[in-house]
Amino acid sequence: MTTESKTRIIIIGAGYAGLVATVRLAGKTRKQNVSITLVNAADVFVERLRLHEMAASPTIPQKRITDILDGTGVDFIQGIVTNIDLQTHSICVQSNGNDIHIEYDKLVYALGSTIDRESVKGVGEYAYLLNPSGKRSVEQLHQRLIETNTAGGRMLIVGGGATGIEAAAEFAETFPNIHIQLATQGQVGDFTRKEIADYMRQSLTRFGVTFQENTRITELRADTAITENGSPIPFDICLWTGGFAALPLARESGLTVNERGQILIDPFMRSISHPDVYAVGDSAQPVEQPNAPYRMSAFVAAISGAHTADCLSKVLRGQAPKPLSYVFYGQAIALGQNDAIAFMTYPDDKPKHPFLTGKAGYNLRGFFLRFFAVLPELEKRMPGALFWTGKGRFEAAKRRAGRSQAQTVQIHMIDKPEAQ
Ligand SMILES: Cc1cc2nc3c(=O)[nH]c(=O)nc-3n(C[C@H](O)[C@H](O)[C@H](O)COP(=O)(O)OP(=O)(O)OC[C@H]3O[C@@H](n4cnc5c(N)ncnc54)[C@H](O)[C@@H]3O)c2cc1C
Repeated sequence: MTTESKTRIIIIGAGYAGLVATVRLAGKTRKQNVSITLVNAADVFVERLRLHEMAASPTIPQKRITDILDGTGVDFIQGIVTNIDLQTHSICVQSNGNDIHIEYDKLVYALGSTIDRESVKGVGEYAYLLNPSGKRSVEQLHQRLIETNTAGGRMLIVGGGATGIEAAAEFAETFPNIHIQLATQGQVGDFTRKEIADYMRQSLTRFGVTFQENTRITELRADTAITENGSPIPFDICLWTGGFAALPLARESGLTVNERGQILIDPFMRSISHPDVYAVGDSAQPVEQPNAPYRMSAFVAAISGAHTADCLSKVLRGQAPKPLSYVFYGQAIALGQNDAIAFMTYPDDKPKHPFLTGKAGYNLRGFFLRFFAVLPELEKRMPGALFWTGKGRFEAAKRRAGRSQAQTVQIHMIDKPEAQ
C-alpha cells in the first residue's frame, strides 16, 4: 500500500502577516494532506505596533506562540532562519545552538522588516532602535530612558514619520524630565495631510517636544549627531526611526527583490522568480499594485497573510487563486496615553475626514491594536474570520485598463489609417 506524501509548508516569521497566514491556512487545510511548520526568532508574538509603548513600560503582556497555535496541528520551531536554499528547497534554522535543515514544498516568507541602520554612519553603533531584541533594542532603551529621566537629559529622535511621532509623544509623557528633540529631513508629519500634521505637532509641542526640521543627519557619534551642514546636535540618548528596510536574507538567497530588499511578488503572492516561495507583509512588494498601495503596515501585513492562506489552500485543492485586492479603511496615530488622531483612508490610503482626536481617537486606535493582537486566535476559531472589501477592484481595474487600451488602439487606427 502506498500513501501519498504530505505537502510540506514552512512559514518563516510570526509577525502579523506570518501568524495570520499560518493559523488561517491550518484551518483551511485541516482535511488536506499537508504539514505546516512555523519558524520564528522569538517564542512570543511581538506586536511591533506597541514597541514604543514597551520601551516606555515593558510590562505589556506578550502571548506565547505555542499557545496561539495550540490545537491547530502546526509545528513550531523557535530559531533564526540563516539560509534559504532555493535549489534544494530547504532552509537552515539556528535553534538552541544547532543548525537544522528543513525541506519545503511551499515556503511562506514573512520575516518583516527592520529599521535601516546601514545608510548613515554610526547608527548601528550609537542609536537605539525599536527592535524587540538585539543590540540597543527596546529593553536596553527602557533602562536608558529611566536613567536619563532620573538625571534629566536630552533625547534625540530621528525620523518625523508615524513611528518617530508616536515614540516622541509616548516618551515625553512617560519621562517628563527628558527633553525630546525630533529631527527630520522634511517637516514633522509631512507624510500625511497638513491638518493631521498640524494636530500632531500641537500635541507634541504640549509635551515640550521641539523640532529640528529640514535637517538631514549624515553621521552619528557617541553623543552627537552631525547634520548635513556640519552643525552638531548633542544628545544623551538617540532613537533612530528613519527608514524601514527588508532583511538581506531574501536578496542573499537569490530571490528577486526591489531596492528595499522586498521580494517581488505576483498578484497571487508568489515570488516572481521562485513561485514556490510566497512572500507577505513588509517583506513583499507586488509587481502590480493591488489597486491600493501596498504599504509596510500591520493592516497590509494581516490582509496579505490572510490572502496567502487563501491562495495556497486553493492551489492545494487544484483551484485557481484570486489576485490580491483590497481597500484601506482608516489609520490612527497615537500621541501619548490619552490622545491620538484617527482618520479615514478609504479606499486608497489617502487621508480624509472625519478625523477623531483626543480620547475618542485614542480609544479607536486601542480597538485596532486589540483587533490585530487577537486576530490569529480569531482565525483559529473561525478560519477566514478576517474579511475585507474591495476584492474585485484589481480585476475591475485591469478590465478598465484593457478597455481603454483597446479604445486607444481603435482611436489610433481611425486617426492614422495610413499606418496600416
Ligand atoms: C514602533 C513601531 C510602530 C508602528 N506603528 C504602526 C502603526 O501604527 N500602524 C501600522 O500599520 N504599522 C505600524 N508599524 C509597522 C508595522 O509594525 C509593520 O508594518 C508590521 O509589523 C509588519 O508585519 P510583518 O508580519 O510583515 O513583520 P513583523 O511584524 O516585523 O514580523 C516579522 C517576524 O519575523 C521574525 N524574524 C525576522 N527575521 C527572522 C529570522 N531570520 N528568523 C526567524 N524569525 C525572524 C521577527 O522576529 C518577527 O516575529 C510600526 C512599526 C514600529 C516598529
